[in-house]
Parts: sequence; C-alpha cells; structure tokens
Amino acid sequence: MPASEFDLIGRFFKRPAPAGMLGVGDDCALFTPPAGMAVATSKDLLLEGRHFFPDVDPEALGHKSLAVNLSDLAAMGAQPVGCLLGLALPAERAEPEWLSAFARGFLALADAHACPLLGGDTTRSDAGLAISVTVFGAVPAAQALRRDAARPGDDIWVSGFLGAADAALAIMQRRWPDSRGSLAALRPALERPDPQVALGLALRGVAHAGIDISDGLLQDLGHILEASGCGAVLQEADLPIAPALAGWPAEQVRAAALGGGDVYQLCFTAPVAMRQGVWQAGEQSGARVTRIGSVIAERRLTVLDAAGQPLPDLPSGFDHFC
Ligand code: ADP
Ligand code: MG
Repeated sequence: MPASEFDLIGRFFKRPAPAGMLGVGDDCALFTPPAGMAVATSKDLLLEGRHFFPDVDPEALGHKSLAVNLSDLAAMGAQPVGCLLGLALPAERAEPEWLSAFARGFLALADAHACPLLGGDTTRSDAGLAISVTVFGAVPAAQALRRDAARPGDDIWVSGFLGAADAALAIMQRRWPDSRGSLAALRPALERPDPQVALGLALRGVAHAGIDISDGLLQDLGHILEASGCGAVLQEADLPIAPALAGWPAEQVRAAALGGGDVYQLCFTAPVAMRQGVWQAGEQSGARVTRIGSVIAERRLTVLDAAGQPLPDLPSGFDHFC
C-alpha cells in the first residue's frame, strides 16, 4: 500500500481504541468478548452499481455500510463490540473530500452504537468501489434470535414500516413514476437505515426467531420458516405500510411491502404468551412493533387479503442469483 494510503487511514479511520482493546495500527486488533457470551460475527459486501448508485452521497454510504451489518447483529439479539472495514478504492475515491465524508457517516454510526472501528484493509481498485464490513457482537448463546427457533403457534411481528426503501429505489431507477412527489420522504429508508440494535437486545429471552428484512419480508420470513421446519399465515391488512406510500396503487404497495428488500427492520416470532413482553421491548427500545400473523405447523406461506382470501402470485424477495 502506498505511503499516502497509510496517511489516509491514519487521518480518517484511526481513532483511539476503547480501554482494553487494541485498534487500528497493528497486524491484528485485540478485544475480549464479555464473559460468558458467544461472539456474533457477520460480514456484508457492498459493490458500486449493484448495492449503491455511483453518485451516492459518501456520508450516507459510510452510514449504510455499517448499518447493514449492525442490522445483522440486531437480528441476532447481539450487542455490538467492534468492526473492521475493507475498502477497494478507485483513484477518484482516494481523495480527502470523499474519504472524510464517508468516514464521518461510518464513524458517527459506530459511535452511536458503541461499535469502534478496530481495523481493516485498504487497496486500490480498477474495477469500482467495493466496501466490506465485518462486525463483532456479543450475545448469550442460548438467547440468540436464531432462524431455526420459530415454533408453530408463535406470533409473527415486524418492526418499523415496510415498503419505503423499495419504492425509493423504484423511483430512482425510473421504474415507478413519482407522481405524488414522495421520494424525499421515502429516500431516508433506503439511504440512511436505522439498525434496530436496541430492539434486538430487548427481545432477548422474549422472541424465539429473528431476521432482518434485507431481502424482503416474504423471502426473509421464508428463511425462518425453512430453518424452523414450519409455515406461516400473514394478514395483509395488518402490515405496517410506510406512511409515505398512502394513496399509492394497491398492487405497487403490496409488492413493495411483501417483496421489497433493503428494509433494515426486524421480523421475529414470539410465543403468544409473550405479547406483553414484545410490546414492552418495543417501548423500551423506541421501536414500533406490529403483529402481522402466526407460525403454523404446515410448511406453506399464505398471505390473506382483507376479505380473508389467500393472495395468488406472492412476490418473492430479492435474490442475487435469480
Ligand atoms: P497489514 O499489512 O497487516 O494488512 P495494513 O498496512 O493493511 O496492515 O494496515 C495497517 C493498519 O491499518 C492495520 O491495523 C489495519 O487494520 C488498519 N487498516 C487498514 N485499512 C483500514 C481501514 N479501511 N479501516 C480501518 N483500519 C484499516
Ligand atoms: Mg492490509
């Protein structure tokens, strides 16, 4: 790595590590997980042109690069401990202006969640910008919100609202006309997602299974059902639709809510006897939680419309390989 890139890391990404940790500057970072806890770790790779527009605001991109990873910790009920940042930088991004905005967005979210940047790797790229973040968290193993932990009879819940990120993307890609001028209200969900870490922590010992809705509600709930060997019935009328989608054509709203990805909210299951506990977890963490259906023993996924009829042709989520 050229000397100037060491300077860039030192200038933009090196922060004093918290007490007891060794951060940026050595061959490895060192930290000790809290006693008795399992380490939860996850990595997401973001590629220019595939996961973000080349002209995206660098501060928002820094925020989102970490947010999508924190969302995975949230979905497991894990407390953030630290993170690593891998950057493949085209020449035009290895500029102080771009890097300082990116670092500002990244580090502000890292500070907000006490998730210090402990290291990473940086290289020049001739093939666009690539960002790879690894997060580390801590969770008592028995309380992790695993995908295989749903049980027939559980309620199915989601946090926040559905549909906004997908609608923003459709408008920005000119697949949907923005006839109502909703883009400004929809865009923050796509570009500045708010990972539900506090809710994930509050759901320890309350919820059974959890997942974040990064690939769309039906696809991600499908992962829980597959892993748990069961099925689900959802009530369309109970879905918490993003307020900015009020008045949009019903078909578009349905597709965005059921199939739209990039929703850094949680979908989780909990026993009926825990309803009060889920409401309290929502209140305690400042998250809106909505009950949208039930887990059933039979392995099928049905969405009932307001008249109680099953929806035909359910939209599937986003799958990189389809
Ligand atoms: P190595 O040769 O061991 O890979 P590097 O020269 O790549 O070390 O990195 C030097 C130090 O800077 C290491 O502590 C590494 O973790 C850190 N570092 C490199 N790139 C980044 C980055 N993008 N963000 C944070 N820390 C980084
Ligand atoms: Mg290196």
